[in-house]
Amino acid sequence: MDWSGSVAEDVSAPPMRWWGWGDPARAPELPPHALRYLSARLGHQPRASPPVALASARLPRSALAPGALEALRAIVDEGAVRDDHAERVAHAAGRGYPDLVRLRSGELEAAPDAVVLPGSHDQVRRLLELCAERSVAVVPFGGGTSVVGGVAPLRGAHEAVLALDTRRMGEVIDLDPTSLTVDVEGGMRAPALERYLQARALTLGHFPQSFEHVSLGGCVATRSAGQASSGYGSIEKMVLGLRLAAPAGDIELPAVPATAAGPGLRQLLVGSEGTLGVIDRIALRVRPAPRERIYEGFFFTDFGAGVQALRSLAQQHAMPEVARLSDERETRTSLKLAGGGKAKDRLGRAYLGVRGYGDGCLAILGFEGAGRELAERRRRARALVRGGGGLAVGRSPGEAWARSRFTAPYLRDELLTHGILAETLETAAQWSDLGRLHGEVGRAITHALSACGTPGLVMCHVSHLYETGASLYFTFLAPRREEDEIGQWRAVKQAASRAIVGGGGTITHHHAVGRDHAPWMRAEVGAVSLSALRALKRELDPPAIMNPGKLLGD
Ligand SMILES: Cc1cc2nc3c(=O)[nH]c(=O)nc-3n(C[C@H](O)[C@H](O)[C@H](O)COP(=O)(O)OP(=O)(O)OC[C@H]3O[C@@H](n4cnc5c(N)ncnc54)[C@H](O)[C@@H]3O)c2cc1C
Repeated sequence: MDWSGSVAEDVSAPPMRWWGWGDPARAPELPPHALRYLSARLGHQPRASPPVALASARLPRSALAPGALEALRAIVDEGAVRDDHAERVAHAAGRGYPDLVRLRSGELEAAPDAVVLPGSHDQVRRLLELCAERSVAVVPFGGGTSVVGGVAPLRGAHEAVLALDTRRMGEVIDLDPTSLTVDVEGGMRAPALERYLQARALTLGHFPQSFEHVSLGGCVATRSAGQASSGYGSIEKMVLGLRLAAPAGDIELPAVPATAAGPGLRQLLVGSEGTLGVIDRIALRVRPAPRERIYEGFFFTDFGAGVQALRSLAQQHAMPEVARLSDERETRTSLKLAGGGKAKDRLGRAYLGVRGYGDGCLAILGFEGAGRELAERRRRARALVRGGGGLAVGRSPGEAWARSRFTAPYLRDELLTHGILAETLETAAQWSDLGRLHGEVGRAITHALSACGTPGLVMCHVSHLYETGASLYFTFLAPRREEDEIGQWRAVKQAASRAIVGGGGTITHHHAVGRDHAPWMRAEVGAVSLSALRALKRELDPPAIMNPGKLLGD
C-alpha cells in the first residue's frame, strides 16, 4: 500500500496487510508441529490456499457522479481524496472471516467509490453536508478491524458510498493529569495513545486483541472491551465525554465525572457504530500505569470448577485485571500448539496428570498495580482460587499468554493459507446461565460444521468478568469448504446466534452488531426499542447516509 501522498499522513496509523491481519513486515509462522496437530485433529489434508495478488482483486467501477471528486477535493486537503485501486481495496472490508475469504480471493462484493481523509472537525462537517446533498452514503472507517461487517461499503438507497477514514485525525488534544483525563481525536490509534500516556506514567488500560490497529473512535463506536477489561472496564466505562458530527448537527457532551441530567446520552452514542454520525473527539479516563504486572496460571479439574472460582473472584471483589479460563478443548489445544512435545512440557503434563488435572482447564490471571495494594489483592485472589480447587502452576503460562496475546490474528491468516477456516464469536450471560450456554452454543457450532460436511474443533474461554456474569468467547476451526466458504461460515454463525439468543446470552459482548448481527437486534432489544433507535437515527441522520445496513438493518 502506498502511504505516501501529498497529505501529511498520521504516522501513528500503521499499514495493514491488505488481504489479512497486521503489519505486512511481520509474518509469524505456524510452527510445523501445530499444523500437523490441527490437520490430524480436523482430518484435513493441508493445501496451499494463498491470497491472490492485489492487482487481481476485482472492484466495481466507481459510481461517483461527475464532479463529485472535485467537490470532495474542495473540502479536504490536497491528496486526501483517494480513488485508486489499493486504497479502495483497503477500505472494502473489515477483518471477519467472510471479509478475509473475499479479500484473499479478490472477489469483493463491493468497494467504496472513494476514500476521504478529513483532517478536522470542520472538514468532517462539510463532507457530511456534501454527501447529504449528493445522496452519497458514508461509512466511518477507523482501523477497519470490524469482524461483524461494520465497515462493509453498503450504499443503501444512495447513488454512491464513501469510506470516511479518520486516520488523519489522530492527535491528543489535551491531557488533564489532575483529573486523570485525556482528550483525543476520534482517529487516534490505541498504540499511539498508549505510547503517549506511558511516557507520562499513565495508561488507558484498553488492550483489545486488535490493539495494533484500532482507533479510539472505532472502539467507542463499537463498545469495545480490552483483554484487561475485568480490571480497567470496557471502553464504555472510560468515555467521559464526546463529540458526534451528525448530518443534523453536532452533539457535544463535555467530560464530567457523572451527571443526573436526563438519560445517559453519552452511552447512547457509545456503540452507535457510525450509524448516527462521526465521533471525532473523545474524553477518556486514564489511570496511573501499573509498575508491576504478574500474569500466572492455575489449573482446574474441569470447566465448571473454574467458572465457579472466577465467579467468586468477581463477587468477592478480588478481580484481577486479566482473567481468562479456557475450556478443556481450548486448554488441550493451546498446550499442544505451544509445547511441540518438548521434554519440559511433557514433564509438566505428567505432573498435572498425577495431580488429577490432566484433562483440566487452564486459567490465566493477570494482576497489575504496585506495592501492597497489588500484593494484598493477589493474595486474596489466590486464596479464593485455591479454595475453589485451583492448582497454581506458576508464571510461565501467564507470561507465555502475555507474550503472544496479539499473535493469534496472524496465525489465523496462516491457517487460512493452509486451507483451514478459523473464526471466533462471543456472547455474555449471567453466571447462572453460563455453563449451560457454553454447552449449547458449542454443540450448535459443532453440529452446523458437521452438517456442512466439515467436522471441526470448537473451543471456548471465559473472559471479561462482572459481578453478575461473564463473556464466553468461542473459537472454531474446520477445513475450508472450498465450494461455498461463505455458506459454511453463515450456517455456523446462524446456528450459534440462534443458540445464544435462545439461551439467554447477548448477541454480542464486544464485537458489536455491524451487518452480521443486525438481524438479531429485534430478539436482543425488542421491537419498541428498535423503533426508538430508528427514530433517533431519523432525527440525527435525516438523509440516512450514515453507515446504511448496520446495527439497525435496512
Ligand atoms: C483479530 C481481531 C481481534 C479483535 N479483538 C477484539 C477485542 O479483543 N475486543 C474488542 O472489543 N473487539 C475486538 N475486535 C473487533 C474490533 O477490533 C473492534 O470492534 C474495534 O473496536 C474496532 O475499531 P476500529 O477502529 O478498527 O473500527 P472500524 O473497524 O474501522 O469500525 C467499526 C465500526 O465503528 C464505526 N466507526 C469507526 N470509527 C468511527 C468514528 N470515529 N465515529 C463513528 N463510527 C466509527 C464504523 O463505521 C464501524 O461500524 C477484534 C477484531 C479482530 C480483527
